Amino acid sequence: MARLADRTAIVTGASRGIGRGIAERLGRDGALVAVHYGSDGDAAAATVESVVKDGGRAFAFRAELDRPDAVDTFYAALDRGLDAAGAGPGIDILVNNAGASGSGRLHQLTPEVFDRLFAVNVKAPLFLVQRGLDRFREGGRIVNISSLTSRHAYPESVTYAMTKGAVDTMTLALAKELGPRGITVNTVAPGFVATDMNARLRATPEAAAALASHAVLGRIGTPGDIADVVAFLVSDDARWITGQYLEAGGGSGL
Ligand code: NDP
Repeated sequence: MARLADRTAIVTGASRGIGRGIAERLGRDGALVAVHYGSDGDAAAATVESVVKDGGRAFAFRAELDRPDAVDTFYAALDRGLDAAGAGPGIDILVNNAGASGSGRLHQLTPEVFDRLFAVNVKAPLFLVQRGLDRFREGGRIVNISSLTSRHAYPESVTYAMTKGAVDTMTLALAKELGPRGITVNTVAPGFVATDMNARLRATPEAAAALASHAVLGRIGTPGDIADVVAFLVSDDARWITGQYLEAGGGSGL
C-alpha cells in the first residue's frame, strides 16, 4: 500500500517550481493532492496532469493569497475540489509553499511590496492553518517552506528574508500549539533551486555557476531535491520530529 494512501495533501503554490515537485512526489506516494495556484491555471492543470500520469490523484484550485478574502476563497475552492474528488473535508497534510519574492534592497523597497510579501509569505500560511484547525486529522503534518535567507544576511532581498524569518518563528509556535493533537509542524529551508523565482539570477552560464558555487555539493538544487525532504517529513518515518528547521541547500554557506 502506498505510504500516503487515504491521505489528503494540500500544496500551496503547486502550479510551478518547488510546489509542483512536491505535488508530484506526494501524488506518487499515494495522497490525493490539492494543487493550489494563484494565477496560472494552465500551469496548475499541467501539475495535475503530471500527477495523474504517474498514477496519482489530484485537482487544482485557485486563490490569490495577497487578497483580503484569500482564506475564504481558498477553503471554498478547496471544498469544491474535494467534493468533486469524492473526498471529505479532512486534511492530513498542508505544505505552505506558495511564496512571493522580489523585494529588492532597502532603497528599492516600497510599503506596497512589503505588504504583499508579508500577505503571501506570512499572513496566508498562518490563517490557512487557523481556518483548517478543525479539519486536521490526528497525525496531521504541516510543512512550511522557508529559505536559507532567514539565517544568512541577505540584503539583496531584505523583506523577503524577513518574511522567511517569520515563517521559522511560526513553525516553532505552531508545533507547540498542535503537538497535543499529534500534528507535527516543521520548516524546510531550501538553498537556491532552479525555478522561475530566480531565473534572472542564472541567466548566463557564469551567473548559474556562481549560484551553484554557494552549495558545497556544487550545483543548484532541483524541485525534486526539496520534494524528497518534504515527503520524509510528512511520512510516518518523521512522526517524532516537530518544530524543526531543516536546511535543504546542498551545504550552502558552510
Ligand atoms: P515559483 O515562483 O516558481 O512559484 C511560486 C508559486 O507560488 C506559484 O505556484 C505561484 O502561483 C504561487 N504564488 C505566488 N504568489 C502567489 C499569490 N499572490 N497567491 C497565490 N499563489 C501565489 O517559486 P519557487 O517554486 O521557487 O518557490 C516556492 C517556495 O520556495 C517559496 O516559498 C519560496 O520562497 C521558497 N524558496 C525558493 C527558493 C528558490 O531558489 N527557488 C529558495 C528558497 C526558498 P501562480 O504561478 O499560479 O501565481
